[in-house]
Amino acid sequence: MKPFVHEVRSTRIVFGSGTVSQVRAEVERVGGNRVLLLASKRLDDVARRVRDSLGPSLAARFDGAVMHTPVEVTDQALDVLLSHSADCVVAIGGGSTTGLSKALAARTNVPQVIVPTTYSGSEVTAVLGETREGRKVTRSAPEIRPETVVYDVDLTLDLPVSLSVTSGINALAHAVEALYSPQAEPITDVIAVDAVARIARGLRGLAAAPSDVDVRADLLTGAWLAGTCLGSVGMGLHHKLCHTLGGSFGLPHAETHTVVLPHAMAYNAPFAESAMARVAGALGVPDAAAGVFDLVSSVGGPTSLRALGFPEEDLPLAVELATSRAYPNPREVTSEGVAVLLSDAWHGRRPAGRR
Ligand code: NAD
Repeated sequence: MKPFVHEVRSTRIVFGSGTVSQVRAEVERVGGNRVLLLASKRLDDVARRVRDSLGPSLAARFDGAVMHTPVEVTDQALDVLLSHSADCVVAIGGGSTTGLSKALAARTNVPQVIVPTTYSGSEVTAVLGETREGRKVTRSAPEIRPETVVYDVDLTLDLPVSLSVTSGINALAHAVEALYSPQAEPITDVIAVDAVARIARGLRGLAAAPSDVDVRADLLTGAWLAGTCLGSVGMGLHHKLCHTLGGSFGLPHAETHTVVLPHAMAYNAPFAESAMARVAGALGVPDAAAGVFDLVSSVGGPTSLRALGFPEEDLPLAVELATSRAYPNPREVTSEGVAVLLSDAWHGRRPAGRR
């Protein structure tokens, strides 16, 4: 028997097709009168639709969110929020835009309505990762968790396949690490296994039908479920490595998750047998780590840090940074072990796995 704690943490979820039309109603629901709209230029079309629906409630727009939430960008957006007396944030975009929204909420307690366009899952967590002077620091607080998430499958139909693959594997990583988290409990277990199955099904369907609503609904639902796991239980070695590689070396977030995940899984596998068996079952493969590697390869995702442009000579520093502080993980995190793991990830070696 394993004791556990389960806590209900609520974000209102609106899921469907065409749901972006409900953003205004959701803004009213959280009491917003003056909206700061966060959306990158790339998402101008949908930003315009939301702006038109908000009418005079739109106070300002900021389009400068960047990956890993540098505090300098947050300061700029905060100036805009304060100078326009905004009392609500609507964020349309991926995890970078959501991260900026959460950084603003952390500083002002402003309510947030998030419209995700990738599978990052950040929208359903109370976790904020910020980069200050080249280091990514994570913190968690109730006011960081968005009040409402509006998932509109239509906004993901044109998400480029390469981005969909890496973002989907980013989501998969949340579900995988949730299954061997020290805080894992029956509800997160069930959610995580379902998330793995949906994400795998969605990724396998992408090549043939990238704009199929059911394929995209699988991926977006899987991302929400996996994000819910991320928001409920602590993550392990895999997330630590990705934060290090992203925050200190500037590697792109989802691509890094995609390369590292099979290797972090292979490292932990002998100490997380039940979790790995569940992942393998949901994927329909004999070995979870090798199965994820094969899934990534089959859908054309990146499989090596070398391909992401990471310099081999920086590997020792990455090992040092990733092992400088202890954190929970099924298997003890040693410098020697992480060095082998990152070397495998740099070369893109397929985990041997069980047959
Ligand atoms: P991102 O938000 O930077 O988006 C990746 C790229 O996709 C960007 O160039 C963006 O413009 C583009 N894009 C987004 N939606 C698109 C669409 N519909 N069509 C075409 N292009 C589109 O990256 P991401 O992977 O979504 O998020 C990464 C960030 O989120 C990182 O900073 C990471 O740390 C953070 N994150 C935080 C949490 C958390 O719980 N705190 C969880 C996951 C990720």
